[in-house]
Amino acid sequence: MKGGVITIGNEILKGRTVNTNAAEIGRVMYFSGYEVFRGIVVPDDPQEIAYAFRECLNVCDVIISSGGLGPTFDDMTIPAFAKAFNLDLKLDDYYYNRIKESFSRLGLPMTEERKKMAMIPENSTPIENNVGSAPGIECTIQGKRVFILPGVPAEMRSMLKVIGKKIKLSDSFYSEKSIVVKGIYESTISPLVKRIMREHGNDVYIKTHPGMENGVSVIEIEVSAKSKREDEAEKNAENVLKEIEEECRKLSNP
Ligand code: ATP
Ligand code: MG
Repeated sequence: MKGGVITIGNEILKGRTVNTNAAEIGRVMYFSGYEVFRGIVVPDDPQEIAYAFRECLNVCDVIISSGGLGPTFDDMTIPAFAKAFNLDLKLDDYYYNRIKESFSRLGLPMTEERKKMAMIPENSTPIENNVGSAPGIECTIQGKRVFILPGVPAEMRSMLKVIGKKIKLSDSFYSEKSIVVKGIYESTISPLVKRIMREHGNDVYIKTHPGMENGVSVIEIEVSAKSKREDEAEKNAENVLKEIEEECRKLSNP
């Protein structure tokens, strides 16, 4: 099963905000058993937002987006999404009253901007926001699950925790383990990585992360193993890592 991540906001594209939401969503999807297959960042533009959802729906089974659910003029994810899939927007009475009450406790009136946060596309379920005002949205489109979350990291995170459990695949597990080797070049290890990956097929992925420390090559070797069983995924990752460790020892002491 494939996962797609969409992050929305001009501030991400121009580098004002580091895209930590994409990383956090990717991690949750990956550990829920999905191959995170597509990640798209788009500006606050309805056409671009629609493009991102359509594109992800073409190739992914589960899509999670973040950003653009707030009250400001540039928050347009919900109307853009609804328009892209011909969904009517409806005022959700429960959220309307909740938002109204929470602002009235602060002595503030209900405004069009605040009302906007209670507009939900048809055939969708709101996702509780325990941190802020705007609810998230869960919607099934073309048999695929779409989750639309706010951009504020604390709000996004609180919803993501629940979604991670909800989308968890019962027959797909990943395990990630790594070691650090020093004094060997990445290009020296490269044939070894290629050979081991070929031997194990699609269920093992090896990634080298090169670096330098005081002029000495330092490489983190990360092994990611996939299996239908959690314990098997862990064991496979461990075994492959042991094999790499041994081969690296031979390379450094030929
Ligand atoms: P708000 O109610 O605050 O408007 P929102 O859902 O509309 O929430 P955005 O306006 O897109 O969210 O973003 C709010 C803030 O959250 C941004 O100023 C930014 O700092 C942070 N943020 C947005 N997207 C991301 C992201 N992908 N990664 C990390 N932080 C982000
Ligand atoms: Mg906003």
